[in-house]
Amino acid sequence: MAPDGQTLAPNVYDAEPIPDAARAEIDRLLSSGDLFRYTAAEGAPVALLEQEFAELLGSRYALAVSSCSAALFLSLKALDLPRGAKVLIPAFTFAAVPSAVVHADCTPVLVEVGENYRIDIDDFSAKLPEADAVLISHMRGHTSDMDAIMTLSDAAGVPVVEDAAHSLGTTWHGRNIGTIGKVGCFSFQSYKLVNAGEGGIMITDDPELAARAIIMSGAYEQNWKKHPGLQNSFGHWQNKLPLYNLRMQNLSAAVIRPQLPEIARRVTDGRRNHDWVAAQLNATDWLVVPDALPPEDRAPDSIQFNLKGDWSDDQARAFQAAAKRRGITVQIFGLTEGNARAYWNWQFLGDLPDLPRTRAMLMRACDVRLPARLTEPELAYIAEAIISAAGDVKA
Ligand SMILES: *Cc1c(COP(=O)(O)O)cnc(C)c1O
Repeated sequence: MAPDGQTLAPNVYDAEPIPDAARAEIDRLLSSGDLFRYTAAEGAPVALLEQEFAELLGSRYALAVSSCSAALFLSLKALDLPRGAKVLIPAFTFAAVPSAVVHADCTPVLVEVGENYRIDIDDFSAKLPEADAVLISHMRGHTSDMDAIMTLSDAAGVPVVEDAAHSLGTTWHGRNIGTIGKVGCFSFQSYKLVNAGEGGIMITDDPELAARAIIMSGAYEQNWKKHPGLQNSFGHWQNKLPLYNLRMQNLSAAVIRPQLPEIARRVTDGRRNHDWVAAQLNATDWLVVPDALPPEDRAPDSIQFNLKGDWSDDQARAFQAAAKRRGITVQIFGLTEGNARAYWNWQFLGDLPDLPRTRAMLMRACDVRLPARLTEPELAYIAEAIISAAGDVKA
């Protein structure tokens, strides 16, 4: 063990620097004061970002907004669901997801998640008949069985929204996550693959849905004319929908656009780092990284693994403490007080169901950040710290 883990452990929290190209554009925006996306007649940074992102993902329309939560909210609003509509969501997700459902005047219905962090398709099928919409969070990029989910949802005539906040770069049968459902939503918050501090974007091929979302995002009066390809659809929605004003401003787009060419490298490096550490953890008797479903190619910037076999809560906490002594923070979703990813903490929902499978998973699922920029010695330090911390408790 390192004599002083705190100083030897790699820093997994610092972001990558923003590419230099952002500086010139930010300077230009500061000099002109042109920060609002709808001031310029054309070519505003936010509009360019939408065009580039839609092209990158292979979608017809993109709408940049203030956060992924805003994108999820607008997606549900743009589906024109009745008040109180039931929306299936996985019980393992970030608290902002059920919050977006509540904000859209809908009722979340939580679906069990298995120890592989993916939706339990039996529970999903059982709950689908009561659902008006489905919102799938690909938590940390772990992709649920989208073949089964789309087949079942299509047969039931229920629209699917993908929360791909943390899944940029992940593919399913080679297809980009976020392009499988009717709408896909992504985050540019700092802990995601592309970092703008805050920000989000939604993509869809549906012109009516795009037009409705654009107007509700705050394209008031004739501003929708600055979104290409939708002129017919806008006509009948103008002034019929509320304006929620969730727009992105130009400075955010200036920070995001130069990062788009970095995505492919971040995906490759993140996957290589993850798989290298996963192989070390899987070689132990105490830790296991659940297999992905075969069609998934993930873009990880963190690693999730389970404590394997019989571990008590006290042992799990002792493992966390032993890793901490080596300078590595291991989050165990269900053991961290007030964790926003543990469904029993979503008290704003009122009566919470008991979901024993999800609960059991959350009590033993561990989470360690593994940013793409880490070097092999840093990865080796992290793997060794985790493994010897488990050994301290179990060996
Ligand atoms: C980060 C995240 C969100 C929220 O994104 P914001 O841009 O912060 O609103 C939603 N869902 C998942 C799965 C996330 O990881």
